[in-house]
Amino acid sequence: MHDLVLKGGRVVDPSQNLDAIMDVAFSGGKVSEIAPNIAEARKTVQAKGRVVSPGLIDLHAHVYVGGTSIGVDPDALVAQSGTTTFVDAGTAGAANMLGFRKHVIEKVRSRVIPYINIAFPGIYAFSHEVMVGECQDLRLLDVRECVRVAREHKDLVCGVKVRCGKGAGGTNGIAPLDLAIEAAEELGLPVMAHLDLAPPTRKEVLSRLRPGDVLTHCFRPFPNAPVGPDGKPRQEVLEARAKGVLYDIGHGKGSFGFNTARGMIRNGFMPDVISSDVHCLSIEGPAYDNLVTMSKLLCLGMELKDVIKATTINVAKAIRRPELGTLKPGSPGDATVLEIQNGKFEYIDVLGEVMMGDKKLVCADVVVGGRLWRELN
Ligand SMILES: [Zn+2]
Repeated sequence: MHDLVLKGGRVVDPSQNLDAIMDVAFSGGKVSEIAPNIAEARKTVQAKGRVVSPGLIDLHAHVYVGGTSIGVDPDALVAQSGTTTFVDAGTAGAANMLGFRKHVIEKVRSRVIPYINIAFPGIYAFSHEVMVGECQDLRLLDVRECVRVAREHKDLVCGVKVRCGKGAGGTNGIAPLDLAIEAAEELGLPVMAHLDLAPPTRKEVLSRLRPGDVLTHCFRPFPNAPVGPDGKPRQEVLEARAKGVLYDIGHGKGSFGFNTARGMIRNGFMPDVISSDVHCLSIEGPAYDNLVTMSKLLCLGMELKDVIKATTINVAKAIRRPELGTLKPGSPGDATVLEIQNGKFEYIDVLGEVMMGDKKLVCADVVVGGRLWRELN
């Protein structure tokens, strides 16, 4: 007998090319069966009229709550965003990865998988009032320390994060990215590179990224936007995709523009990954959480199955954790139940542009480790 069954939902699981009305069963913390009619379970939850997806993964979040000013509480976001796994985008560096592990990752009920920041202290000064970039002083970017600590936490660390740009790196240009790649090569892990104002330029960053590396803030507004003045994807952006660079939304407070997104999507350039870049400032809007970001992309013309792919299996592949982002029997028992509301909904981007959308994704239920989230708390 199964522990739990989600009954009669539209199961959308791109990892299995599945889009059908099915029951999904969980036992012993794992997905135990997917079939049209599963009778035996200790608990049954009706999912009729709803979409059941693998547990959503947010590739770009900042969840070192308490230990850093930028961090927000991941568990507080699960029910509203449907996110079961938060990938932390380099909030901690070599100096505080142990603290992140002991005080947050091992304590919370949601899954947290960190990138390690190339900067020793991680993102250490980020608030409304104080904003000092961790890549402004290159003495903090010690490749040896990054590699040593990443190895100590190799069961967790999925890659090396770098915020290269005028905001985080001052006038250091491309140097922080070169150092991050040096560390990542030694570790055999991918890099996630952020892009803000130059220096460095979009071209410098994209020419260095390797297959499997992630460019976050990929639909940012001008300058350093991926579209040119003609509204079409720039040549270097197309070339980097052909090479295998992954494009991640990383919405945040300043990194997602509707106009950029329209140009990219109109030309058939979909993001590989949709993520929120939720942190202490963007949680108050315009990002809020990843389900709001997903709703925006849905209203901008992405298909539901592509939106779910960009928050499940594509993310699992980017962090090399293929057991996540899927409902294949035997996988960790994470699932998200979504309701698609139709109507008129207001969305806002980082420039303050308001878009009226006709759809909104709302989280109806979450299963983490085979158990209903609402019963865990
Ligand atoms: Zn971020």
